[in-house]
Order: sequence, then C-alpha cells, then structure tokens
Amino acid sequence: MAALNLARLIAAAADTIAANAEELTALDQAIGDGDHGLNMKRGFEAVRAEVEAFSAKPLPDALKAIGTKLVMTVGGASGPLFGTLFLALGKEISAKPDRANLTAAFGKAIEAVAARGKSQIGQKTMLDVLQPVHDALLQGKTALEIADIADAAADATVPMKALRGRASFLGDRSIGHMDAGARSTALLVRTVAHSLGE
Ligand code: ADP
Ligand code: MG
Ligand code: MG
Repeated sequence: MAALNLARLIAAAADTIAANAEELTALDQAIGDGDHGLNMKRGFEAVRAEVEAFSAKPLPDALKAIGTKLVMTVGGASGPLFGTLFLALGKEISAKPDRANLTAAFGKAIEAVAARGKSQIGQKTMLDVLQPVHDALLQGKTALEIADIADAAADATVPMKALRGRASFLGDRSIGHMDAGARSTALLVRTVAHSLGE
C-alpha cells in the first residue's frame, strides 16, 4: 500500500466527482430528485477549498474534519451518510495505517453508516458498494481489483428494489436503474484505490 498523499487524494476525489456530476444527477433524476451530482460536487469542492488545512492535520483528524465538512455541505440524505463514513473512519484509523488497520477502520465506518441510515446491504444504497469493498479488502484483493469490484457492485444495484431513501417511494419502479449513491461511492473507491495502489 502506497503512502497516502492526502492533498493529492482530495484533489483527485473532487476532480472525479466534478467530472461525473452530470451522470450522478441523471441517475438521481431517474429514481430520486436529481440533485445527487450537485450535492456531491458542492461538498467535495468545499473540501477542496480547504485542502491545505485538511492535509496539514494527522490523518485521523483530517478525516474527521472532512466528514464534518461533508455533513455541512453535501446536504440531502447522502451528506450525513458520507459524513458519517469519514467521521467514523477518522475515529478508527491510525496516523499511518497499514492495510489491516485500514480494513478494520473501514468496517467500523460502514457499521456507522448502516446505523445512521437504518439500512443494510441489499436495499439499493451506497452500502451495496461499501460492503463488497470491505469484503474485498478482507480477501486481500489488489487496488485495481477492488476498484472493479466497486463498479460491479454499483452495476448490481440496477435490478434491486430500493428500500431506503427517496427511491424507495417508487417501490417496484425503482427496479432497472442504478442507485446514484452506489455510483458515487464506486467512483470514490476507484479514486482512493488508484492513489493507494500506485
Ligand atoms: P436525497 O435523496 O436526499 O436527495 P442524495 O440524492 O444526495 O440525497 O443521495 C441519495 C443517495 O443516498 C441514494 O442514492 C443512496 O445511495 C443514499 N441513501 C439514501 N438513504 C440512505 C440510507 N437510509 N442508507 C444508506 N444510503 C442511503
Ligand atoms: Mg437526491
Ligand atoms: Mg435531495
């Protein structure tokens, strides 16, 4: 696992979200309210704007500060959930994480998201990407494999029926569309995997 360059990772994540914001919005238009791309872009640009302050902190503090910023700026259902993911990751991770620590911290962070969202795997949400990524970390998969697993997991939300979030209001009509939060999660996983796998 390559040493983490947080400033570069923040820039890469914000670039990825900006480059894919229209796709995220289109996905959310199909079965939600069409703001997921804008929500994520607003949040990650707010993080990018303070990249120097974040990257000057020790990793646990930086992740907690990023989580707080995301809660304040992303909005919607996904803001508190992505915020919780980063906050919980910051609480559990060490300043210089190895793979075992990263894997354990990520597992705890997913539990925190599930508790916050009262959600679990199979309900057509971001958890349907987070959980397979954690499984892949446990199985010792490479960064590239994990990025592909995340994409496949987002694709696998297409035939699911949404049981959480706005898409659940549509019932069976949510079937046949990819979950926007699953897609944004897969995009972020690929960005992190790429930067840690270099
Ligand atoms: P909103 O639905 O409030 O407009 P967003 O469009 O930004 O918020 O985010 C929607 C995404 O949030 C969904 O695609 C889904 O992945 C995720 N989500 C919504 N509710 C939950 C929940 N209870 N648990 C986990 N993820 C959720
Ligand atoms: Mg939305
Ligand atoms: Mg909304």
